[in-house]
Amino acid sequence: RVKEHGKNNFQFYTPEMNETVTKKMQMEIGLRKALERNEFNVYYQPQIDVNSGKIIGVEALIRWQHPEWGPISPTEFIPLAEETGLIIPIGEWVLNEACRQNKDWQDQGFAPLRMAVNISSRQFKQSNLIDIVSKALDESGLNPEYLELELTESIIQDSKYAIETMHELKLMGIFLSIDDFGTGYSSLNYLKLFPIDSLKIDQSFTRNMFDDIKDAALVHTIISMAHNLDLKVIAEGVETKEQLQFLSQRECNEAQGYLFSRPVPAKEMTSIIKQQYTYG
Ligand code: C2E
Ligand code: MG
Ligand code: MG
Ligand code: MG
Repeated sequence: RVKEHGKNNFQFYTPEMNETVTKKMQMEIGLRKALERNEFNVYYQPQIDVNSGKIIGVEALIRWQHPEWGPISPTEFIPLAEETGLIIPIGEWVLNEACRQNKDWQDQGFAPLRMAVNISSRQFKQSNLIDIVSKALDESGLNPEYLELELTESIIQDSKYAIETMHELKLMGIFLSIDDFGTGYSSLNYLKLFPIDSLKIDQSFTRNMFDDIKDAALVHTIISMAHNLDLKVIAEGVETKEQLQFLSQRECNEAQGYLFSRPVPAKEMTSIIKQQYTYG
């Protein structure tokens, strides 16, 4: 979609190279304007307690709707936002919006849910992260125990700083989890050093559980390991009842995926919460 806008582009590279470079440049220009033009939206996906079948949390997932290019996936623009530093204002916007929305649900009288917000490693490393998180909580009035920050293993590169920051966030009462667990290349040593509450099993393992017994073994092992370390564990990408049953038998605490709901706009999430479907 971006490349359709190549009319005014310079042509001094090879066609393929030109296309890649300009697509990226165009997207960066678009991304710079997207916040002020109100092109971002936050979608929400429920997280289900495996035992009760009830929604106990929600993950906030950003969506970008460009007026001409249409919807652009976060897997496309988040890496560019990271690279350019635009993730800082964008991430702050998501955090504020997610906290505000969660408090709004509580004010409507629904049972409190935990709101999970993805924090990229560049955001995590920004020196005023604690201030930004405090501000989001203050301005929304959300109790910190209902905010979860999803971190990835990549923050471990600077582990001394990471441990300190995580301790500060824990002191504030925030719930911390490791997203896409099992896909990084870090040592397991950090699991005993980091004050985290939960592991999110990456969806690549969940997806292949019944095609590859090694994936099933890994899922089982991650669940056991999490429990032995006194951590909660949530499986991402749960699409079938069979997967849910497998997870339930192995005492996985929570599940998230298309089986329950795709990520949906706030309004739709509100009706899902209202109904509090009992899944499974
Ligand atoms: P993630 O945090 O691991 O989020 C889970 C992704 O899996 C989401 O993709 C979600 O829509 C998708 N998903 C959920 N259930 C299923 C399922 O059952 N099957 C399949 N195939 N997919 C499922 P999405 O929304 O496209 O986001 C992709 C990634 O972009 C996220 O992965 C996260 O790393 C990043 N991202 C999204 N929103 C934000 C944000 O606000 N800030 C930052 N820093 N990163 C974000
Ligand atoms: Mg996530
Ligand atoms: Mg993930
Ligand atoms: Mg991810």
